[in-house]
Amino acid sequence: QALIELSGVTKVYRSGKLEYPALRGVDLTIADGDMVAIVGPSGSGKSTVMNMITGIDRPTEGTVTVDGQRIDLMSEEELAVWRGRRVGVVFQFFQLLPTLSALENAMLPLDFSRRVPKRERADIARHNLELVGLGDKGDHLPAELSGGEQQRVAIARALAADPPLLIGDEPTGNLDTKTAAEMFDLLHRLNSEGTTVLYVTHDLELAGRANRVVTIRDGVVAD
Ligand code: ADP
Ligand code: ADP
Repeated sequence: QALIELSGVTKVYRSGKLEYPALRGVDLTIADGDMVAIVGPSGSGKSTVMNMITGIDRPTEGTVTVDGQRIDLMSEEELAVWRGRRVGVVFQFFQLLPTLSALENAMLPLDFSRRVPKRERADIARHNLELVGLGDKGDHLPAELSGGEQQRVAIARALAADPPLLIGDEPTGNLDTKTAAEMFDLLHRLNSEGTTVLYVTHDLELAGRANRVVTIRDGVVAD
């Protein structure tokens, strides 16, 4: 069963009269429960594909369906709520809110979830900080954490709403080899419990840890 389906997706960036085609007809189906790595040369369109799936950007042509919903047709408000509840996103440049503690950052997606009572939110965030090995750092501000620790807070935040889909753009890009391997063990564990995991990586060894590798080249899926 497909969780993600991109059909005939093109994306053209425009600057004045110049056009930059980033995607030129991407057809991609990702099965529910799969663990997929997206690889390809720099500038081939990997981040653009991810931005289509999270609704951060919209296709010029084509359709994007995730979890039964037409992402390309959603309003910004609908997208914000949908992302908070249904998708956990980890960027290479994790955007933690600098004035909030690690625990408060890890609680953020739950603010969109009616299903989780307020009093339980801190407990869930604390549990996720423990999963990423930061159980004792909940009170720290991002500036008081190392780069790798900040990235782990971003992963804990992505797990907050227990989303069926986790998406990462170089999710372990700033972590040392040992911590990155631990984070991959965690991703594998979540995947074996049913979470669909999709990540962009330049690291062929990390790509090899996925069940399936999709190569993007010149804005299309290469065979
Ligand atoms: P990758 O993630 O594989 O490195 P990207 O998806 O970031 O590739 O970019 C694909 C192509 O689209 C590149 O040629 C890039 O320069 C171009 N591109 C990406 N974002 C923009 C933008 N906002 N404006 C113009 N061109 C862009
Ligand atoms: P509490 O747990 O204290 O009841 P909630 O988060 O459930 O707090 O609700 C606080 C208010 O925010 C309620 O009016 C609720 O309907 C609203 N709310 C919660 N989540 C959303 C959401 N995703 N979109 C719009 N309104 C929401």
